[in-house]
Amino acid sequence: MIQIICSKETYVYNVYHMVKAFYPSKEVTSRVEEKASNYVTVFPEEGPEITVSEEMTGEADRSDIKEMKYRIDCLLYHALSGRTKKTLAWGILMGVRPVKLAMAELEKGTPKEEFTAWYEEHLLVSRQKAELAWKVARREKELLDRLDGERGYSLYVGIPFCPSVCSYCSFSSGALSDWKERVEDYLEALKRELQAVSELSRGKILNTIYIGGGTPTTLTSLQLERLLGCIGSLFSGDGLLEYTVEAGRPDSITKEKLEVLKGCGVTRISINPQSMQQKTLEAIGRKHTVEEVYQAYHLAREAGFNNINMDIIAGLPGETASDMEDTLKKIKELSPDSLTVHSLAIKRAARMGRESRAETFHPSEDIGQMIELAAGAAEEMDMSPYYLYRQKNIAGNFENVGYAKVDKAGIYNILIMEEKQSIIACGAGASTKLVFKEPVENPANKEKKTSLIRLENVKAIDAYINRADEMIKRKEEWLWR
Ligand code: SF4
Repeated sequence: MIQIICSKETYVYNVYHMVKAFYPSKEVTSRVEEKASNYVTVFPEEGPEITVSEEMTGEADRSDIKEMKYRIDCLLYHALSGRTKKTLAWGILMGVRPVKLAMAELEKGTPKEEFTAWYEEHLLVSRQKAELAWKVARREKELLDRLDGERGYSLYVGIPFCPSVCSYCSFSSGALSDWKERVEDYLEALKRELQAVSELSRGKILNTIYIGGGTPTTLTSLQLERLLGCIGSLFSGDGLLEYTVEAGRPDSITKEKLEVLKGCGVTRISINPQSMQQKTLEAIGRKHTVEEVYQAYHLAREAGFNNINMDIIAGLPGETASDMEDTLKKIKELSPDSLTVHSLAIKRAARMGRESRAETFHPSEDIGQMIELAAGAAEEMDMSPYYLYRQKNIAGNFENVGYAKVDKAGIYNILIMEEKQSIIACGAGASTKLVFKEPVENPANKEKKTSLIRLENVKAIDAYINRADEMIKRKEEWLWR
């Protein structure tokens, strides 16, 4: 186990995540000792401790917390890099949205070269990732400029059921077999929340709808028809640019369900293999076959879907770069319209996180090679990157990237990252994000103003069914101040 001692709470987040990024398979603990003699002390399992002390930070203005944090991060990065002989592709950037910084610079009119040099020299990001962040920001901006930031909004609808629970999943979705008796109650509660949102949102323009989860296509075709019919009758489709349904698990897709989706105006679906290796699908509890991916994909094309996304994950247990190569070869043959490449993120809430052993973790060079292969395959399919985000405990400290062909990018995916427009979310665990043009009082901290307020629905399926009225009441309080 690696232990960290920081002299201030404010240093802990970056220090912890940086140590974890350099030592992904190790357990890391941290604590604050205000009287500690160093700003940061790291006790690795082997070798002498690594410290960042007052003398090392030189002329820094010690009252400037931001400056101090920056200096500490850089010093620690170099020390850890020297000790492990590794570098991190995203340098000292520990946050989840590296494109946000690129977007801010793009909006200020900063030239590309200036931005990439600042990312490389100041934040120690690799040239390749700096260029990727810039490229994504440019494409995001082009898409976002088409939206009405003030009157437009997006709707998220969560269906928290799946055919089985995958071992890496940290969402609060449940296996359908455990919830069969409560699905109707859930849909009833969801309908009431949707009705309230529709009444509160008159005069607004609905730009995108995203039905996710879980796996919405776990519902029967009749249930799907009722849910989508209800959405269609409650919300005007006049300003709708995109309507996505996450048909994630191929074993939940049937011809009837696809016809329902198509008939209700869905424009984009996601069929997610995660891997095209049967041994891997079995190892991660997906309980579907590679063959079912092919069948679902062909059924969707036959049903007339011309915007199909596929998700894959780099770094799944037991996979090698040649497995990834084979998965990509099969995906290229199918030729989807977009491809989302995730790096495995192992969270405690996931079965894999609770049971994880050292062999679960791939060396970062392997993950780097896999995501390089995926980037190359996306390019061969005429796709370019359009959104990017990172997660805590992400394999190799890399990123997740969405690639899409021209005009096939998922606008909702950008909106969820960039927070340029409000997203109203309904269902268990759904998180509403209200974006304000002028900062408003922050209910969580009355002393600070904020331009983003989150309203989180309760996660547990039962709790949501029982407490839907509370979720509605909070929406009535906040929509649309
Ligand atoms: S299909 Fe998706 S949401 Fe469902 S258990 Fe697997 S990873 Fe989680």
